[in-house]
Amino acid sequence: MTPDHDLVLRGQRVHGPQGFDPAEVGVSGGRIAAVAPLGAGLTGAREIELDQDEVLLPGLVDSHVHINDPGRTEWEGFDTATRAAARGGVTTVIDMPLNSIPPTTSVSGLSAKVAASTGSRYVDIGFWGGAVPDNLGDLRELHAARVFGFKCFTLPSGVDEFPPLGAGELRTALAEVASFDGLMIVHAEDPGSVSGAPSGRGYEGFLASRPPEAETRAVAQVIDAARETGARVHILHLSAADSLPLIAAARAEGIRLTVETCPHYLTLSADAVPEGATSHKCCPPIRDRSNQDRLWQGLLEGVIDCVVTDHSPSTAELKHVESGDFGAAWGGVASLQLGLPVVWTEARRRGVPLETVVSWMTAGPADVAGLSEKGRIRVGGAADLVIFSPDAALTVDPARLEHRHPVTPYAGSTLHGAVRRTLLAGEEIDFSRPAGRLLWRGEP
Ligand SMILES: [Zn+2]
Repeated sequence: MTPDHDLVLRGQRVHGPQGFDPAEVGVSGGRIAAVAPLGAGLTGAREIELDQDEVLLPGLVDSHVHINDPGRTEWEGFDTATRAAARGGVTTVIDMPLNSIPPTTSVSGLSAKVAASTGSRYVDIGFWGGAVPDNLGDLRELHAARVFGFKCFTLPSGVDEFPPLGAGELRTALAEVASFDGLMIVHAEDPGSVSGAPSGRGYEGFLASRPPEAETRAVAQVIDAARETGARVHILHLSAADSLPLIAAARAEGIRLTVETCPHYLTLSADAVPEGATSHKCCPPIRDRSNQDRLWQGLLEGVIDCVVTDHSPSTAELKHVESGDFGAAWGGVASLQLGLPVVWTEARRRGVPLETVVSWMTAGPADVAGLSEKGRIRVGGAADLVIFSPDAALTVDPARLEHRHPVTPYAGSTLHGAVRRTLLAGEEIDFSRPAGRLLWRGEP
């Protein structure tokens, strides 16, 4: 008898719209072809029975990853980043337009990205474009080349080739993006409210140089500009919980606004940053515990839409790992391979169910980016699947990370949750044969 499907997976806990259910999932041609109650008797050419301690999740979608390739490939590359993603259960990555050279601020910059990734894609990859002062007339062309949207900064980004937009330029850019119903994603910190970080091994000086007001002021400006222009905007890596009431009010008003936060803001806190531990430096900064509590509240109330890593590594040298100088170190946390266990471990402690965390890291970012076939286990969707053991203990050994550099604030942490297998389009990821596809905005 010919089997119904290429592959059937069966488990007691399969992630669905109502949480976890006992189910069978049939996969054909790389897509989910059937979801049925456990015992329905789907047949597959291959079959996978989940163990009692395992759950079946949709592949994670990480819409905030800096791969830095080409041009700063020594920081991270497509090969290492997408292998790390695969090991961490992330099957879709959207690459940020800066830190690579050239940046993705033109169609030729986008072509350079595609070329650099060829032969090195272990998971599916899409690209964000960038909006900088001198390319605002070219955004439509880049939109037509099907980037998922445009990233801009409201203050210096850290690299000279990706300058920020001034207040007037932000409005111009948003008006342009609104004209073709695109999406602007914004690094929102107010330049007038931040100061240069002092040198030294203490975290407090760096933290004080980027106060919460820097974020709340910039978020308010972005909201005003979105209201004026009608553009759809997304706030990147929200750290300051003081911004949440502004965001909630803007949404109540009908402004098209979405928001993300990151694992480090949800799990690390300023008082626990070890002296000289520049692996914790990022912008905006990791703040105090009460701020962290309010970010969790924001997620649970739906004011924050999703959790993505903002994986932004550099070399150990640029991280000033040796000197531990917070003033000099590159700002960026590396966590692509660890996002799910990191967030789940803290969620578990807080009594937040796994299905909720999973939605923040799958359907949440997929919806922001408009990836309609990713992030959910449902008929017609991509068969990107993760077999995860939520209770397994994991001690983070940096030597086992696939990231190009093993610098991470989670080194030595004991976490819950192990990614056992990652499937992309119905096939278990083969680390000797990269099979990730390129993803384009609006493509089915
Ligand atoms: Zn970033």
